[in-house]
Amino acid sequence: MERTVNMLPSSNVYLLHLQCSGGRCINGGFDLTPSVEELVRNHKKSGKGKMVCKEKDESGASNHASISYGISIQYLH
Ligand SMILES: [Zn+2]
Repeated sequence: MERTVNMLPSSNVYLLHLQCSGGRCINGGFDLTPSVEELVRNHKKSGKGKMVCKEKDESGASNHASISYGISIQYLH
């Protein structure tokens, strides 16, 4: 699964918490905020990576879901 997030660095709310696709995962998800902050800090326009769900599901597996993500940042100046 690949998801792409397009955002403006001037957005003061980083809505970058993606829902986990694991059916039995309740509080899981993917928080891309640290990745975006690093890109902004380094003035990079895009980045990509992989992330695994931060929560464990009922079976205790922490690797039940993962995503590949791409981040694209538009700088206004
Ligand atoms: Zn999950």
